[in-house]
Amino acid sequence: MQKKAHIVKKVIPGSIAEELEIEAGDRLLSIDGTEIEDIFDYQFMMQDSYVEVLMEKTDGEQWLLEVEKEFDEDLGIEFENGLMDVYRHCHNKCIFCFIDQMPPGMRETLYFKDDDSRLSFLQGNYVTLTNMSDHDIDRICRYRLSPINISFHAMNPELRCRMLNNRFAGEALKKVDRLYEADIRMNGQIVLCKGINDGEELAYSIRRLMEYMPVLESLSVVPVGLTKYREGLYPLEPFNQEDAAAVIDRIEGFQRECFAAHGIHFVHASDEWYILAGRELPEEEREIAAAEALEYEKAKRELAGKNAEIDRRSKIANLYCKAFEKAIMLEVSEENVRIWTDCCRMRENEIADNAKEAREIAGYFIEIAEIIEDKILPSGYFEEEGDDDDDVEYLGFTE
Ligand code: SF4
Repeated sequence: MQKKAHIVKKVIPGSIAEELEIEAGDRLLSIDGTEIEDIFDYQFMMQDSYVEVLMEKTDGEQWLLEVEKEFDEDLGIEFENGLMDVYRHCHNKCIFCFIDQMPPGMRETLYFKDDDSRLSFLQGNYVTLTNMSDHDIDRICRYRLSPINISFHAMNPELRCRMLNNRFAGEALKKVDRLYEADIRMNGQIVLCKGINDGEELAYSIRRLMEYMPVLESLSVVPVGLTKYREGLYPLEPFNQEDAAAVIDRIEGFQRECFAAHGIHFVHASDEWYILAGRELPEEEREIAAAEALEYEKAKRELAGKNAEIDRRSKIANLYCKAFEKAIMLEVSEENVRIWTDCCRMRENEIADNAKEAREIAGYFIEIAEIIEDKILPSGYFEEEGDDDDDVEYLGFTE
């Protein structure tokens, strides 16, 4: 089967790629013998001090490049497709879709309905989770892709299915549990539609989403955008001044509750609500409440500390994944060890040093096995996790 190839668009001057004579138009075929699915595979595979990069030159010749570099040093290549994969389109037909309401005759790309968790991480796009597979979630957790921005709209599964016109949209909410358990930072959004997901449904959604704090860092509530190009679409009504005031009051009630409990407001009404209600924007109010602002800054610093900790944990997890992946690829036999020492033209003292190092590395793996067997597995962590799953409830709605 033809390998998935990634075309080089540009080589950064002074980079390793330039030194290796990689040029625009060349195609990346694999790294360390592994085909690259997308930019995240590429970044992950590149985190090593030695990589073997298989390139195909424009004349079809293949070059296997052995690269020694700093652990997190980049090759300095820009690819034609920044994502290194096709963009995933959404599987929904939301009753409020802004793309369905665009005027005709505009640029083709403006009509593309994306729903791709990788773009959430790269560009801040929002995803609905409806086309996110277990494989995608595994990769998000493994590569520590965060934050993931999620369009929730409703936490009532049945209502969410109706709003997104997708029978899997309610079930998809369970994926949030996996992201939460893996400590993947998230931000949420609710597009509010009058008489559909507002009122008590909004209160229910906010309360359910508060359970994911602080991993779910914030929740924005925005009014549905309606244009004049709605012919044949689901009938939606615009909000009026009174509705906007009620939405703000409800959200500010939750903000006070969140602030008292966690030191952050968590849920935010977008500026449109304040403009529509004829009220001052909340930022101005917060400037007046100096004491509260100080508390807010303190909470933000604490959150930043938590994020730094999440980043540190990601680096360690990456390193362990990498070490295991590489070790498993080794087929240990006398013949292979001889090939290694011969091909690398090792001198006797180098071979002896490598034997010493191999014993040290083996020692690390034995230590890892002992920690897993003696500390992690007997700790009961997995039984507790299973119990939590049973607690997921959907308040009287069945799918
Ligand atoms: S997820 Fe919904 S709103 Fe977003 S592009 Fe798809 S149909 Fe439109």
